[in-house]
Amino acid sequence: MSPDTSMLSVFERIICGELAADKLFEDDKCIVINDIHPQAPVHFLVIPKKKLVSLMDAKACDQALLGHLLVVAAQVAEQLGLKGYRLVANNGQSAGQTVMHLHFHVLGRKTLSEQGLI
Ligand code: 5GP
Repeated sequence: MSPDTSMLSVFERIICGELAADKLFEDDKCIVINDIHPQAPVHFLVIPKKKLVSLMDAKACDQALLGHLLVVAAQVAEQLGLKGYRLVANNGQSAGQTVMHLHFHVLGRKTLSEQGLI
């Protein structure tokens, strides 16, 4: 019998492969996917595989993981040719968090030459 995944967040279901996503990067600690409803020309999400609801759930033992997520965010942004970007984490429903699994949004705009438009 397959496990009941109905209680999992959408990101956990993407991490375990049950749901498809446009994946940009993955390692043993995190996954990076394009946001399904982009708010900028480039909008990807950096998501830890460890279940943390938000930063409010993070403990001292998560320090290395949180640093890793930021380094991965910067590396993927560089690979995509971003010259600058916003990095946002909504923490808690009152701050606009809709998926209850920690994630960093990275929002940016590629230059025209990098898009091959000039
Ligand atoms: P939050 O509002 O929790 O800070 O951000 C959740 C983000 O997850 C939103 O920007 C939303 O568009 C994105 N999202 C929700 N469901 C999916 C999905 O199934 N696939 C992808 N790639 N992104 C999703």
